[in-house]
Amino acid sequence: MKPSDLLTPTPAGLYCPPADIYVDPVRPVARALITHGHSDHARAGHGAVLATRETLAIMALRYGEAFAGTQQPVAPGEVVRIGAVDFRFVPAGHVLGSAQVVVEHKGLRIVVSGDYKRERDPTCAPFEPVTCDVFITEATFGLPVFRHPPAAAETAKLLDSVRLFPDRTHIVGAYSLGKAQRLMALIREAGYEQPIFIHGAVETITRLYQAEGIPLGEIHKIDPGERKAEGRKAFAGEIVICPPSAIQDLWSRRFPDPVTAFASGWMRVRARARQKGVELPLIISDHADWDDLQATIREVQANEIWITHGEAEALAHWCGTVGLKGMPLHLVGYGDEGEAEPDAKPAEAPA
Ligand SMILES: [Zn+2]
Ligand SMILES: [Zn+2]
Repeated sequence: MKPSDLLTPTPAGLYCPPADIYVDPVRPVARALITHGHSDHARAGHGAVLATRETLAIMALRYGEAFAGTQQPVAPGEVVRIGAVDFRFVPAGHVLGSAQVVVEHKGLRIVVSGDYKRERDPTCAPFEPVTCDVFITEATFGLPVFRHPPAAAETAKLLDSVRLFPDRTHIVGAYSLGKAQRLMALIREAGYEQPIFIHGAVETITRLYQAEGIPLGEIHKIDPGERKAEGRKAFAGEIVICPPSAIQDLWSRRFPDPVTAFASGWMRVRARARQKGVELPLIISDHADWDDLQATIREVQANEIWITHGEAEALAHWCGTVGLKGMPLHLVGYGDEGEAEPDAKPAEAPA
């Protein structure tokens, strides 16, 4: 059996013909395996959905309980046989509940990694490398310019700034699923014990993380109009976490002389930070950087690397230089949430 008989790219997403099921389909399909809750991977309207319990919970929060015809939670490591194909979810280290899908049939093993990272994350289970024949990877940060510094060091920059400017509010843009909660956990690990304030759009997912037993400390949602009640002094010296879009809009003007920060792998590109009006860029990413993409590809020992989205050509080229077959899949529809912004080609990145 050829790998493309077991999984094949289609306009709806990666399709497994012998099991008649898709992985992270971008269009409504009869049966789907979902790797994680980001909206470009987890969409509403499928017939049957198989995912980790946490991913199903995230989808229910975002789309309502009836987001699919049926829902089947799959525990990490549990094997689900569909047709004659074995499927297994293995942690991907990306966000809460995120998983790789291991697909096995007639001695052939393909791993669909979804989005993943290798850096430690106190809010989700770490990535587990699985050796395979074909490894399917993203390449969001698949260029040599993207080397992420340790997240703890970036968090220390934020806390240094808070100490240095006690009269200013630190407004930190962070994606509402995953990044925001990881940042809260990192801030706690760094010893910050004050309440952390959040924008309403970050609240439901944050409460889910807390309900899953992830310690985030005291988190307060900021109610609309709260500034009026407390005057301009309100939130001076505090940390406020909001979705990236809120940094620049009216919402942020309630805070006194704010320091605007943004936690993203894209903050490695100074022009991006300037363009977004970010005073304090924090390079904290939930995706593997250039070095970790390479390390992971070597670790799983696959001969063929299929690349779903991001800098597919660059990573495929590197695969060729080390004797591996790298193949861009040109899948469309990914990169709408989290950090994989398709329009975010860094101006200063090398070709
Ligand atoms: Zn993602
Ligand atoms: Zn993605």
